[in-house]
Amino acid sequence: MNGDLKNEVTPVTKAVEVMMQAQVENRLVLLLEGISDFKIFNRFVSESRWEIEYLEGKDNVAKCIETLKLMDQSHYYSILDNDPLDHTKVTGNVTYTNYSDLEAEILANSKFFDEIVTSSSTLRPARVLDSLNAASWNEVIYRIVAPWTHLRLYSFSNGLAIPMKDFPEKIIDRSRADCVYSAASEIFAERAKFSISKEGANEVLESMDLGRLAKLHRGHHLTTAMAFIMAISLGAPKIGSRGVEEKIRTSIIFSDFQSLQCVQALAQWSHLHNKCIWRDGLCVCHPAGNRI
Ligand SMILES: [Zn+2]
Repeated sequence: MNGDLKNEVTPVTKAVEVMMQAQVENRLVLLLEGISDFKIFNRFVSESRWEIEYLEGKDNVAKCIETLKLMDQSHYYSILDNDPLDHTKVTGNVTYTNYSDLEAEILANSKFFDEIVTSSSTLRPARVLDSLNAASWNEVIYRIVAPWTHLRLYSFSNGLAIPMKDFPEKIIDRSRADCVYSAASEIFAERAKFSISKEGANEVLESMDLGRLAKLHRGHHLTTAMAFIMAISLGAPKIGSRGVEEKIRTSIIFSDFQSLQCVQALAQWSHLHNKCIWRDGLCVCHPAGNRI
């Protein structure tokens, strides 16, 4: 162990190093929150004009951008997850996803969800929906994950710090594709260190304001819901969120990806700075074989 903090490599110090190197090489830097974002962008981003760095979390991206501002550096762009329950807003060359993260943005905006379900299904989607007594995949998603978002929302406005990211999958009743309120209340009370009782949490769930929730939900835990839907459509016992992320990453085509609002903002910025973000052959400004 090296006790000298100055030598400690953190995601932020590494990113600043990458920024400096990119400046020497006359490239721009794309700062992302996580490795799953990196893997999606890496398929399409030009290696000769851009460097991609992921920083393991929004806090690290925020720290990195603050450091860059102090250094008077601005040759970076960042795409950040939009969590309506997180009030830290990062400013700079930054755009936020419309939905809770990049995967949710892809699944929500490009009819990709249906495509993935249909392409990976061994059962007829309509039959699966029928068996779950649901009219649409949206309804299934909402039934599975919205109650947990509602509890998060409650915890946020009441100052109970429960971990935000992990979705407790055991609250899903797999045979009915529904959330079990009693299980959700129990886990929520535990995570809130019993500053709210199980009964109290259950009352919160019973009083869900669906209109408000629909506005704030923005695709939270969509990959969890997608994993569940893929598992039942395939008749497979279990597919994790990781498997879904992998499927999204390998299936998304450039024209769908390019149409996302946050991606358009990034591309526009890159063109303003004469460094097209896309690999040669994907964009008119750099046809294949015409490397600059
Ligand atoms: Zn271009």
